[in-house]
Amino acid sequence: MGGGVPPATAARRTGHLAGTIGGMDFRDSPEESRFRAEVAAWIQDSLPAALKGDGGEGEWGQLSSGHERDRAAMAEWRRRLQSRGWVAPAWPRRYGGAELPVMQQFVLKEEMARARAPRFGGVGIGWVAPTLMQFGADWMKERFIANILSGAERWCQGFSEPGAGSDLASVQTRAVRDGDDYVVDGQKIWTSGAHISDWMILLARTDPTAPKHRGLSYFLLDMKTPGITLSPIINMAGNSGFNQVFFEAVRVPARNMVGEENRGWYVAATTLDFERSLVDLCVEYEAILHELLAWARRAQPAGLTAETRHAMVEMLIQVRVARTLSLRVVSMQNRGTQPNYEASIVKLFASELEQRMATVAFHLGGMLSQLTDRGAHPATPVMGRLGRFQLHSVAATIGGGTSEVQRNIVATRGLGLPRV
Ligand SMILES: Cc1cc2nc3c(=O)[nH]c(=O)nc-3n(C[C@H](O)[C@H](O)[C@H](O)COP(=O)(O)OP(=O)(O)OC[C@H]3O[C@@H](n4cnc5c(N)ncnc54)[C@H](O)[C@@H]3O)c2cc1C
Repeated sequence: MGGGVPPATAARRTGHLAGTIGGMDFRDSPEESRFRAEVAAWIQDSLPAALKGDGGEGEWGQLSSGHERDRAAMAEWRRRLQSRGWVAPAWPRRYGGAELPVMQQFVLKEEMARARAPRFGGVGIGWVAPTLMQFGADWMKERFIANILSGAERWCQGFSEPGAGSDLASVQTRAVRDGDDYVVDGQKIWTSGAHISDWMILLARTDPTAPKHRGLSYFLLDMKTPGITLSPIINMAGNSGFNQVFFEAVRVPARNMVGEENRGWYVAATTLDFERSLVDLCVEYEAILHELLAWARRAQPAGLTAETRHAMVEMLIQVRVARTLSLRVVSMQNRGTQPNYEASIVKLFASELEQRMATVAFHLGGMLSQLTDRGAHPATPVMGRLGRFQLHSVAATIGGGTSEVQRNIVATRGLGLPRV
């Protein structure tokens, strides 16, 4: 953030809150403004036609992953993005990233989200590789990071268990040393993408006698290892994105441990820190809101009802609030400060906002919102997106840390209230 661009110009360029409010300067600096224009033009030129707009395929919510989109177009998009180092723009150049400064990463994310361009992140790029850069042995960096960047190998996160979610340190899956291996027995749950992953980051208990945070270790597990069984979980929207994963005498080479034995909690905490920096969600929400508005205009050709107008304005205000909250996180990162409860505020507000938006969309569509098939019935509004958005949004306040847990963080670390 900086000065130099007149508010009206910045507002035209970004379509966002711009100007100075209460001493805070929300405008792009001249350099950021130039970068924004460059990125927007580049995306316009480079995004394959099959991925432009929603291509008739995109979802509301979980937009950026590009699941279900044209595979050849996705591969081409990845190649073009990588030609700029923008598949993993935050990574160091030596690993194929672009080493973009924090503000430029944010601008890039915003412009990608605004163009509804699929992004490549997820477990491998977002969490595993940065964790390996910090804690991994040299062979791990060489063996895994390039394949994560190219998409040649996919990763899943094996942390949660039936009795260990919010309280992750309660992990019970055991890993017992046997010669050059550890032997793993136990169960994980809610493991997103395990069925399409080549590798898992696995948190397992290596010392059951130690206090619970101190007896855990962090492994890289080849999903083809004998003894691993998957059982898909069908969510309420009818998708099987996540799984239960069972381990029976699964042998993991000891060299696949990241960091030291029984110090895995600290490695996992680093992974979760990467997971919790969700600063660009609100940009996706604004894009959803614009699509929702376009749909409402089609559905109400005589003009939007007062109820619709009020609902849209209310949602837009909340989306802008979310953006302002996320800018606080970005500006802290920009100053080299580690966001803490501030990131929890964004996660809390943005995920609950997603649910409020989904409810508004659902109500606007009326009874027909319940039709979630992709246009199987001619009366299905917007190819069933309203209903699917509503069903998918339920998970937003659970995954990545529940709302209650975020509130606890804000209460204790932000407001200094006592733990009870
Ligand atoms: C879409 C989705 C994808 C996921 N993907 C993965 C994945 O790939 N890998 C993985 O390891 N995990 C994954 N998870 C699991 C996720 O991390 C957990 O669901 C989450 O941490 C909550 O844990 P839990 O489900 O065990 O609920 P619990 O922790 O059992 O919580 C149950 C309820 O109790 C509340 N609660 C718990 N503790 C407290 C407290 N101290 N104070 C107040 N209230 C509390 C919670 O807020 C919640 O309402 C995913 C979850 C979702 C929804």
